Amino acid sequence: MSGMAETAGRFDVVIAGGGITGFTLGLALKRALRGSLSVALCDPALGRPDRATGRAYAIAAGARRMYETLGVWDRVADAAEPIREMIVTDSRTDDPVRPIFLSFAGEAEEAPFAHMVEQDRLARVLRETALAEGVVPFAAPVRSWSAGSDLASVRLADGVRLDASLLAACDGAKSRLRDLAGIPLIGWSYDQSGIVATIAHERPHEGRAEEHFLPSGPFAILPLAGHRSSIVWTERSDRVEMLLSLHDDEILEEIEKRFGLHLGRISLVGRPTAHPLSLGVARRFVGDRFALVGDAAHVIHPIAGQGLNYGLRDVAALAEAVADAAGLGLDPGNAETLAAYERARRADTVAMGLVTDGLNRLFSNDLLPVRLLRDLGLGLVDRMPTLKKRFIREAAGDGALPRLMRGHAL
Ligand SMILES: Cc1cc2nc3c(=O)[nH]c(=O)nc-3n(C[C@H](O)[C@H](O)[C@H](O)COP(=O)(O)OP(=O)(O)OC[C@H]3O[C@@H](n4cnc5c(N)ncnc54)[C@H](O)[C@@H]3O)c2cc1C
Repeated sequence: MSGMAETAGRFDVVIAGGGITGFTLGLALKRALRGSLSVALCDPALGRPDRATGRAYAIAAGARRMYETLGVWDRVADAAEPIREMIVTDSRTDDPVRPIFLSFAGEAEEAPFAHMVEQDRLARVLRETALAEGVVPFAAPVRSWSAGSDLASVRLADGVRLDASLLAACDGAKSRLRDLAGIPLIGWSYDQSGIVATIAHERPHEGRAEEHFLPSGPFAILPLAGHRSSIVWTERSDRVEMLLSLHDDEILEEIEKRFGLHLGRISLVGRPTAHPLSLGVARRFVGDRFALVGDAAHVIHPIAGQGLNYGLRDVAALAEAVADAAGLGLDPGNAETLAAYERARRADTVAMGLVTDGLNRLFSNDLLPVRLLRDLGLGLVDRMPTLKKRFIREAAGDGALPRLMRGHAL
């Protein structure tokens, strides 16, 4: 990438990690306080050409409002697919029909509760906009860092040193920075992986998302722009290697058993990829001049499609706390600011982590009494419009949200 700074510098905030959370944080900080905060972002991936990931996310209404406020939604909206309806079924893999136990209209407060957005487009738009706004990029990973009383000193693998009032770790689930800070991750791994693939189909999906609860775990079909859907197929880990080694037509046959024939003939767009699933929440979200953000702070089961959305709530809360401190002339990495961020985010995340864990245990299970009870529960929920509205509001990311997610600039 051209324009890469070679020398050490002093910044208000250094961000480690340029995934979706890292660049959203960089952009949110540069858009605050008329661009007066200085922000650097380092990631070894910045030195490599982009590669297609085939990943897509359900971006909840709160996160969409933040992207509107930050001025990037317009650049992804044409490829974002609104979820207009959602259905839930509970059956065995070989069952010929999957009766619908629960259905939701996809609106919360007269807007879709979520849009499906492809990772590659969103990541590119965020990176281009953040760099144009003045986020300074470094194409190297953090190798080590230390916190003094008034600054964090960050050493990159290429020897460059960056000083900052605050170091924000957005370096993903296997966060090296979290390890270097000595912050343990509390949780467990599921004996499951999420197989992700893009499927092209003959008939239109009409914005319908489907979640089929199968004995090995949920199988989600999520609408993408055009006649395409993204699938997130939860499988027992010991079967994943075998499944991924199958030829395209064989794996398509396996997918078809779960996907069904209601959208006509299906084909694969690219090879599926697998992602081991786990639950983990960092014991602390902050340290001296240090904050964990996104998957570095928490990893949850994708059953509710909330992992990235919770990372984006971290971004909105941290950007708000930092901008409020700096706006008052305070040090943006001071301990009170970081404590406010942790208060705003940790309990919320633990609660969602436990909800997704409970849902996964309840549904990745083929015991007859458990199936009967949960189907009775789903059927009851389906007859309670007020409760269904609450679920949709929750999935839309409404409630006590940071300012950016309510559509207010910092
Ligand atoms: C199967 C599956 C389906 C999912 N579906 C959804 C969904 O529908 N909706 C949703 O909200 N969430 C979903 N999620 C969760 C979502 O994928 C993650 O929450 C999100 O990708 C995390 O983004 P991130 O920016 O925090 O981390 P990452 O995307 O992991 O980015 C980390 C970045 O840090 C960089 N890095 C690593 N080490 C260093 C270092 N030492 N120094 C500097 N940089 C470093 C890496 O190069 C990388 O660019 C799903 C997850 C799975 C597994």
